[in-house]
Amino acid sequence: MLIVQKYGGTSLGDIDRIRSAARRAARLARQGNRVVVVVSAQGDTTDMMIQKAAQVNKRGAAREMDAYLAAGEQMSAGLVSMAIGALGYPAMSLTGWQAGIATDGIHGNAKILHVDGSRIRKELDAGKIVVVAGFQGVDPEGDITTLGRGGSDTTAVALAAYLKADKCQIFTDVDGVYDRDPRLFPDATRFGQIGYDEMMALIENGAQVLHDRSVELAKAYGIRVEVLSAFTGEPGTIVGDLE
Ligand code: ASP
Ligand code: MG
Repeated sequence: MLIVQKYGGTSLGDIDRIRSAARRAARLARQGNRVVVVVSAQGDTTDMMIQKAAQVNKRGAAREMDAYLAAGEQMSAGLVSMAIGALGYPAMSLTGWQAGIATDGIHGNAKILHVDGSRIRKELDAGKIVVVAGFQGVDPEGDITTLGRGGSDTTAVALAAYLKADKCQIFTDVDGVYDRDPRLFPDATRFGQIGYDEMMALIENGAQVLHDRSVELAKAYGIRVEVLSAFTGEPGTIVGDLE
């Protein structure tokens, strides 16, 4: 199977969590799967970077913000790749542009136009786990773009679509999709499965569990997205229409 797994910021929040993501990816690869790992920046790195940027320029050019913010995901990609390497499994990190993710030129909220998956496929064929920095791509001018806050989800779904993955898993700090934010409402109920349109409606009502474009893309390409806890690894919620 070809499996795309995405790890959010909290799921990579410290070294233990990085190691746990690395172990999960290596285990799947040892079982004979081809594994692509998409990573977010660690913890609240992106928020901290935005604050720092505001200290040097309150209205920094969007192009420069993208150049800066994309580095958060690149740091995660390098770290996760090295953590997998430490387990004795070959791994390689790729930035969004190395991974062939082509976007439009809307800095700060770029849309993925195309993915050239040849580099990823080549590294998978060579037996590596490929770790891709989420949230970023390259525009027609060759400039770094970012996909909007929470955009690593969209990177994962786009890669799953273009690589024709068998599975797309989004590992996060909640154990699935709930009807209300489970961190605020203890009596919120979890969906075992939720359709694309229902998921979009939840996002429009403020749910932050998935980036809106990731769901649009999943719907367009018929990708079933599994949202599950990075801490338990137990089955979570399947986002997709019933067959
Ligand atoms: N690091 C970016 C953010 O905080 C992208 C992501 O996490 O998906 O919005
Ligand atoms: Mg997120």
